[in-house]
Amino acid sequence: MAFVDGWTCRACWKPNRPQDELCYRCKTPRHADEYEVEARRAAAAARAEEPEKVPDLLVALPVVIFRGYSRVWIRGGLGVLGLLALLAFGGVTDLGYLLLTGSLGAGLVAIGFVSREVSESMRDRELWAFAAGAAISVVAVIGSVTAFEILAPGLVNPNAIRWGSVIVFGGAGAAAVAGLVLLITRRDKAA
Ligand SMILES: [Zn+2]
Repeated sequence: MAFVDGWTCRACWKPNRPQDELCYRCKTPRHADEYEVEARRAAAAARAEEPEKVPDLLVALPVVIFRGYSRVWIRGGLGVLGLLALLAFGGVTDLGYLLLTGSLGAGLVAIGFVSREVSESMRDRELWAFAAGAAISVVAVIGSVTAFEILAPGLVNPNAIRWGSVIVFGGAGAAAVAGLVLLITRRDKAA
């Protein structure tokens, strides 16, 4: 993806917009001299060699969990939206039901993209990401219980759904909270 009248960073080859004075990706100035470009390249290469920035299991676990959820949610949401198309073309005219199915699908896709962002930021040990992860888990528990009760009433034992949701998403929430606590306590020690 290139920009009209843009410029290409000589350190990382990222195309940048004409108004950017610094490279969007690696922060190399647009008019950096040869020496600085070379130094930036070496620094970027050294960073790429480093292992992932999540050595602690308690921090690494929620990253993996939310990355996995994100994939499942986006796919599930697209599946629900496909179902919506089938329902609509299949002659289902109950507007409330169509709206509900549509918003469930859109919600799943949206929360999937959010948790992808969250898992990326957890890798960088951003506090907000762990807090957001815990919040997403709560929303997911409530959402999945509600979705089953409305879309498939009587199909599965309600208690089984409640416990299943709490176990599946509560685990993720606990992992996110544990990561958050770990980060905060570490930060206090470092300060
Ligand atoms: Zn760059």
